Amino acid sequence: MRQKTRRVLLYVSLFLFPVTMNFLSPYVSIDGAFAGVLSGSAILFLLLFLSGLFFGRGWCGWVCPAGGLAELCQTLNPKPVNAKRLRVVRYSIFAVWFGVLMTGFILAGGVHGVDPLRLTERYVSVDEPVKYILYYLVLGSFFVLDLALGRRGACHSICWMSPFLSAGMAAGRLLHLPQLHVRAKAEQCIDCKKCNSKCPMSIDVNAAVKTGSVKSCDCILCGECVSVCPKAVLSYRNKG
Ligand code: SF4
Ligand code: SF4
Ligand code: SF4
Repeated sequence: MRQKTRRVLLYVSLFLFPVTMNFLSPYVSIDGAFAGVLSGSAILFLLLFLSGLFFGRGWCGWVCPAGGLAELCQTLNPKPVNAKRLRVVRYSIFAVWFGVLMTGFILAGGVHGVDPLRLTERYVSVDEPVKYILYYLVLGSFFVLDLALGRRGACHSICWMSPFLSAGMAAGRLLHLPQLHVRAKAEQCIDCKKCNSKCPMSIDVNAAVKTGSVKSCDCILCGECVSVCPKAVLSYRNKG
């Protein structure tokens, strides 16, 4: 039931992507930065950082439209990925993008205003035919990477949002905030590795179980491992 609900939420989010695209856009936030304005997407990135403090990367497992696309692609290519190698690519892309964003705010002399609907005056991101080109370009890139690289390949390689979530997650742990995570009762584990085969983020859950919890910054709290474990080893916990 939990996994069905999660998938429905992700598919609804994917369906609404023509409406929400600008609020997740790295371009819109840069456009705002050079004008000294906090756009809708810049605000969302800040909110992602804040959500990371308490919910880790739950956004990725339950809300993000790209997560919905990844779930579909995973049925076509369920191959696990080399997350470590792809992380280098992702953070390199992020460093360039974030650098441009900060440069924009510095050149503009800081933040002078807030405009949540910047470049989205009609409340819908894809509000004219030409914007479908951008929409299909974004969707197509994620689709190709998910298919070519394997499970959530695009999330691992090009996502500009996950570093905000990961930073929030790390800060939450540092501050010992009550943060949602997956806990394990190691003594009950029979090493069947069903959790590994189900994990959409290619985490070695079986190895993490030995440490008492899943600490990986890649964990998106989807709960696939919790649902599949035949010995109820894994469960959600919310402790600092
Ligand atoms: S990693 Fe990025 S693209 Fe993937 S689900 Fe998370 S926020 Fe969305
Ligand atoms: S599915 Fe459960 S029992 Fe099997 S390896 Fe994973 S944690 Fe252990
Ligand atoms: S470790 Fe479990 S909760 Fe985390 S991403 Fe993998 S399957 Fe989902």
